[in-house]
Amino acid sequence: MSDFDCDFFVIGGGSGGVRAARMAAQQGARVVLAEAAALGGTCVNVGCIPKKLYSYAAEFADDFADAAGYGWSVGTPRLDWARLKLKRAAEITRLNGVYEHLLRTAGVQIERGWAQLTGPQSVRVQGADGTRNFRARHILVATGATPYVPDLPGRELVHTSDAMFDLDPFPRRLVVVGGGYIACEFASIFQGLGAQVTLLYRGEQILRGFDRDVRDFIAQEMRKHGVDLRLHCDVEAVARRGEALDVTLEGGTTLAADAVLYATGRVPNTQGLGLELAGAGQDAQGAILVDAHYQSSVPSIHAVGDVTAGLQLTPVALAEAMAVVDRLFGSGQRSVGYELVPTAVFTHPNIGTVGLTEEAARERHGHIAVFRTDFKPLKHTISGSTERTLMKLVVDCATDRVVGLHMVGPEAGEVVQGFAVALRAGATKAVFDSTIGIHPTAAEEFVTMREPVAGPAPAGSAHAIASDAA
Ligand code: NDP
Repeated sequence: MSDFDCDFFVIGGGSGGVRAARMAAQQGARVVLAEAAALGGTCVNVGCIPKKLYSYAAEFADDFADAAGYGWSVGTPRLDWARLKLKRAAEITRLNGVYEHLLRTAGVQIERGWAQLTGPQSVRVQGADGTRNFRARHILVATGATPYVPDLPGRELVHTSDAMFDLDPFPRRLVVVGGGYIACEFASIFQGLGAQVTLLYRGEQILRGFDRDVRDFIAQEMRKHGVDLRLHCDVEAVARRGEALDVTLEGGTTLAADAVLYATGRVPNTQGLGLELAGAGQDAQGAILVDAHYQSSVPSIHAVGDVTAGLQLTPVALAEAMAVVDRLFGSGQRSVGYELVPTAVFTHPNIGTVGLTEEAARERHGHIAVFRTDFKPLKHTISGSTERTLMKLVVDCATDRVVGLHMVGPEAGEVVQGFAVALRAGATKAVFDSTIGIHPTAAEEFVTMREPVAGPAPAGSAHAIASDAA
């Protein structure tokens, strides 16, 4: 008889944990998964899914306005915030049930409670119905991350993204602090839902790490949509004034707000997990240190997703989870490619991006060509909207490979997902040029850009061939 109660103990029922538990059970492993909160983790409960639902809700504001340009009489639209919250909550509850069903049908034992490592191969779960101890051959820590709010006077008065979905009442005036994914997405969403939004960022442009043109373009579009975006702006304190809040900026200016959102990054969820007891190493931020196989300094303990110092993206956690399960219970062939991870930011309009920024490509490849177009989409030629779309390709001249592709515009995530496959397959600019467009779409612009705006046309591209022939 085995010395272990299970082959695989998974701590955390979010994207990475659920996927790992399910796949391991399907490989015949005896799997236990512990989760103290709702199944689905950040993504399902207070992240990607509810955020995208609210993003859809917010986009209707533009749709109503655009419809008038097309001859529709729409009247004055009014949002029923309470109804939106109820509909979202019901959908999330349904998804929690789907996750539970998937785990149970795969044969995973679900333990409700707070799990803590008590050694390299042992876990204690404290639940409402008592404490249980497990001996596990392998342990996976997939506890995700949690919002970080810097120390400031009035810190207790501000919200994090976790609380934004159920705010009551709807904030007429919202101040958002930060300039990353979450700050920009929530600024766009609440502006669309009807709030007066002020976005405060400490640096010189939002979305550090994204392509410079993308950053400048989305900043301009967000301002056009009505977001009051202020750069080089630091908050000194937040204080209550009656029902409202006063946000004091460095320099003394004060903004009145009904709610303040701090979206200033996320830190790994490792407090109280017993990692020290088990001997697993962590970095200065608390992230679990893992090797290329997601193995911690303790061979029996692995970690995936946001609890490690990698990319904080759901699909990345899923891919890592499957790689761990394949290594422990399968053929060991699966690996995760971190080059060319596509991503989207659900601002209004959306951002979609894959590969290198122009700046990073120049640094890595030296000789690059940049193709860029910025246009009014067909829909807005008569909608009355002034929204524009940006598309950009970055090409390595030595190989003609497209090494970066960026878009700001409607459904940019949907468009870029398809092109990400082409980039992973090594598509060259010549391949883009020989691809027939779908007309009339915005996406066809990616295969019809001929004149580089920076750098020479790469050798072998349609542009170079055309210039050679002329
Ligand atoms: P990000 O790391 O994207 O952004 C954090 C922002 O907060 C940065 O602009 C940063 O500024 C600023 N900041 C950090 N510390 C302070 C401080 N002390 N005072 C003022 N500003 C500060 O984190 P998010 O919280 O937005 O998102 C976390 C992660 O979640 C993202 O990295 C992303 O991977 C993931 N995510 C993905 C989404 C998607 O795929 N659509 C959606 C939402 C989240 P600076 O740039 O100067 O450092």
